[in-house]
Amino acid sequence: MFVILLGAPGAGKGTQAEIISGKLGLAHVATGDLFRQAVEKNDMLGRLVKGYMEKGLLVPDEVTIRVLSERLNGPDCRTGCILDGFPRTLEQARALDKTMSERGQAVDVAVYIEVPEAELLKRLSGRWICRKCQAPYHEVSSPPKVAGRCDKCGGELYQRADDKKETVRERLKVYFDQTAPLLDYYSKKGKLARVDGRLAIEEVSGRIMSHLHAGSTRTK
Ligand code: AMP
Repeated sequence: MFVILLGAPGAGKGTQAEIISGKLGLAHVATGDLFRQAVEKNDMLGRLVKGYMEKGLLVPDEVTIRVLSERLNGPDCRTGCILDGFPRTLEQARALDKTMSERGQAVDVAVYIEVPEAELLKRLSGRWICRKCQAPYHEVSSPPKVAGRCDKCGGELYQRADDKKETVRERLKVYFDQTAPLLDYYSKKGKLARVDGRLAIEEVSGRIMSHLHAGSTRTK
């Protein structure tokens, strides 16, 4: 099963992708994580994408599509995966459809996690991420048991450079300009499911799971 999680930065895509991929035994593929790892390593890709990420801008489609396609060729993505943060433009969505059809496969469902803008701003400004396993925390709504340490792997927690207020505003603007049109794209294909992202984390994952189990409940 190939599942796309759509939603603005801060909607909870990473958290939900982690939960759903665990429940279904599917790989969690996040282009943002792949780019951040490259920046940490300071390799060629990392040097290429760093500037875009720091400004809250999208990495060019050509680069992003190449990185994603290589990742999809991994053995753990042969029969499915949870895509988190990809696609983010219409061009990426079309490229994904093409790649999938060449493999004789298709995206099964795109789940849109809906959260109002004011709530997104609040969430992003208090967000902490594990340097080792990328698990997200929030200083108010989901703090770690030990300050600065990941509950899951004990890794160090840090604040992403692009979670600064000005960058957050730019990322949200980019989202509404470039990524929101994807809702229409998947809706027209009858593949869009909507979930209220303001609900508790477990409630959101429960609703996502029921959409995945019952393809017939997908809404247009
Ligand atoms: P994320 O962790 O998904 O919020 O992504 C962090 C940053 O990585 C974004 O602000 C973009 O600069 C870049 N990025 C991640 N995924 C994509 C994508 N699908 N297309 C273009 N840029 C991306």
